Amino acid sequence: MAELEKDSRSSSEAGTPSNFIRNKIAQDLASNKHEGRVHTRFPPEPNGYLHIGHAKSICLNFSVAAENGGLCNLRFDDTNPAKESQEYVDAIKDNINWLGFHWNDEVRYSSGYFERLYDFAVQLIEKGLAYVDSLSAEQAREYRGSLTEPGTNSPDRERSIEENLDLFARMRAGEFEDGNYSLRAKIDMASPNINMRDPVLYRIRHIAHHQTGKEWCIYPTYDYTHCISDAIENITHSLCTLEFEDHRPLYDWILHNLDIASLSNVSDLEGQAINYVLPEQTEFAKLKLNYTMMGKRNLKEMVDTGVIEGWDDPRMPTLAGMRRRGFTARSIRNFCESVGVSRSESVVDMSMLEHAIRDDLDKSAPRAMCVLNPLRVTLVNLEPEHREILSLQNHPKEESMGRREVPFTREIYIDRADFEEEPPAGFKRLIPEGEVRLRGSYVIKCTEVIKGADGEISELKCTVDKDTLGKKPEGRKVKGVVHWVSTTEGVKATVRLYDRLFNVENPESKEIEDYRDCLNPTSLIELTECVVEPSVFAESDSENFQFEREGYFCIDRKDSTETNPVFNRTITLRDSWSS
Ligand code: ATP
Ligand code: MG
Repeated sequence: MAELEKDSRSSSEAGTPSNFIRNKIAQDLASNKHEGRVHTRFPPEPNGYLHIGHAKSICLNFSVAAENGGLCNLRFDDTNPAKESQEYVDAIKDNINWLGFHWNDEVRYSSGYFERLYDFAVQLIEKGLAYVDSLSAEQAREYRGSLTEPGTNSPDRERSIEENLDLFARMRAGEFEDGNYSLRAKIDMASPNINMRDPVLYRIRHIAHHQTGKEWCIYPTYDYTHCISDAIENITHSLCTLEFEDHRPLYDWILHNLDIASLSNVSDLEGQAINYVLPEQTEFAKLKLNYTMMGKRNLKEMVDTGVIEGWDDPRMPTLAGMRRRGFTARSIRNFCESVGVSRSESVVDMSMLEHAIRDDLDKSAPRAMCVLNPLRVTLVNLEPEHREILSLQNHPKEESMGRREVPFTREIYIDRADFEEEPPAGFKRLIPEGEVRLRGSYVIKCTEVIKGADGEISELKCTVDKDTLGKKPEGRKVKGVVHWVSTTEGVKATVRLYDRLFNVENPESKEIEDYRDCLNPTSLIELTECVVEPSVFAESDSENFQFEREGYFCIDRKDSTETNPVFNRTITLRDSWSS
């Protein structure tokens, strides 16, 4: 095993990076361990939206199944109704589809197995392997012991099987209040692994469930539910993150002590009965990203307290937020492949994720022009009604992406930042009496600077060198190129410039008292006077654009209106964080 783990990043012949999990599956297939089957599952708890960490697990589970002709289930691990909701169920399904993955068959729910889980609990009681305990939560904590001290047996541990069966049935029937009793596995209170010290299997909770309504008032614990759900679904490889490593002995204990053959619906893909082999848990390291918080508890708190707009705020590391920000599903899949799968915890640099989206959009996003801070330019030697349609390539390297029509008129906007009255050294854009090329258009020369009463520049008057369309000006060099949009044909828009939400690498670090102190104050800048070229609204398949010289942007489908389109900056053209 250790040898396999070292190999986490090397490339396999197929071009997908091999890792210790792919290697293990290959070995299991070679030894026919699961009769040639690979069946994985992605098991989210519907207690929040999925984040980029979940994407790593989704990509892994769905890919290893697909690569081996196997199946991957989507199963909601819904044993904690107090924190779960249908909204989260729906969002999670939507996110997985958007990422480009398709689960096997219909969606599964752990709650769909509540009846069978109950029967298995009865089986454990009958075998003398589970008992109903009346210790309070606080007492149970005291009896549990610590990492250095063994635990103490509960006084209820030797309750008779009959009495346990009776009490458990009455727990289910709703005769007791929350916390009065629990069902616990009878394993070993002295085990060095605290998970094995008679873990709780069922708790009384008089609360409705988003799938089962008021049918149950006792709910099984995650550890008890997960392994049995895997077994019921004939999962072969149960992949999870490292914090469950110490739970693996319990996973195995439960399955080994149940009469799993009684599940007996075990068949291969053609429906043939097969020898049943228990599912096996394998752990890998969680994805951690700097400049981000990923715990759902923290994300939910940010949503609930209005630190950000909602789960789909484009600054959130959620898939809903990233999608709205303009990340493509492909870029996220590529990122997840590139970070690899191993057993060593490490923090991935945000710039890797940003590289993945730049790389994808550089190739795929059509170019367009948008002026963020408009400055009016009148081209004085053109007729007032001058209107010329210029044809610009959608992508500088990809001719197959076609061309677009860009109207050129007497009045245009350029960006305020592209003109300087007193230019700093090396300034290559427009200056008084200086020349600059309009992207895809003519060379212009600034002949007059007009100022308002406040002293602010309100307009430039320029002349066009009509002999410079598609060719160099005679006898001189013009270095600068600026983007522009027609004032009369451009479309007014709001543009939101997003940046990293936090300005420290680890907002969850123990040294930081309150993550709110580390919020990047410029994570969102909204510009409401922008002007974008009309081709962006022509029937185009793309949601993503490179606004030349400004970055990659996408249309915000949520906030755009007919009269006021909104664009979100996905990412700048270059990494401005690394110094
Ligand atoms: P969080 O701690 O963010 O709330 P979770 O682990 O409680 O996440 P679940 O819904 O239980 O969230 O997770 C579903 C699956 O996604 C689990 O198999 C879990 O191990 C995996 N997963 C969660 N976070 C990450 C991560 N950061 N990297 C990789 N896999 C993850
Ligand atoms: Mg969880």
